Amino acid sequence: MSGFHVTEERKDELAANLAEVRKRIEAACAAAGRDADEITLVAVTKTFPASDVRLLSELGVADVAENRDQDAAPKAAACEDLPLTWHFVGQLQTNKVRSVASYADVVQSVDRSKLVAALDRAAGRAGRRLRCLVQMSLDEREGRGGAAPGDVLALADEIAAAGHLELDGVMAVAPLGGDPAEAFARLARIAAEVRESHPAARVVSAGMSGDLEPAITCGATHVRVGTALLGGRRAIVR
Ligand SMILES: *Cc1c(COP(=O)(O)O)cnc(C)c1O
Repeated sequence: MSGFHVTEERKDELAANLAEVRKRIEAACAAAGRDADEITLVAVTKTFPASDVRLLSELGVADVAENRDQDAAPKAAACEDLPLTWHFVGQLQTNKVRSVASYADVVQSVDRSKLVAALDRAAGRAGRRLRCLVQMSLDEREGRGGAAPGDVLALADEIAAAGHLELDGVMAVAPLGGDPAEAFARLARIAAEVRESHPAARVVSAGMSGDLEPAITCGATHVRVGTALLGGRRAIVR
């Protein structure tokens, strides 16, 4: 089969997945008495090629997310001509910050002071403003990233005070094996506290392929969907 047909086939597949995900978002919004326009669908393209990012863009996706700088940097460069907002959603080491600040529009995984300072410096150097979300841990166990709930407000204040950063809101990943609705309700409470001091920080990034419905019920404004859009990833061993 020619490359053209392979691409067309993949585009049809992505279009069908996208329609299905949009339907789920609409149904969850209807059930929660919300407007589907309030939800931003962020396509998590990690482990998939730049050609998929391009197809998603052609299909109307405006937001894409990556979690590893090594993969994200070349993909963003290959898609520079596309009208996309790039989100960084992975655990971020300070030695990668300079690279991430060169292509990311939104960093969703800000979880410590040191990172705020490094992102501010890198954004200033790059002559860019970076939108940031404070990632909150919804899991007692360590290791998946995210600030402890008690540290979220102080981090939000630090981002808001940084010269080259904008505080957009909060992000979280539901704990493995837990009740996502209960976890997202905890995130919603902290998000509301952040908005008391920072009314413009309205983003609540929560919900993935398996739990976007409870996230929308609990007030998510952004859902981050990988598998349901792009198909199964190969397991990444860390
Ligand atoms: C991979 C990833 C997602 C998407 O997960 P799926 O279950 O494939 O939809 C969302 N958020 C983060 C932070 C991720 O790393």
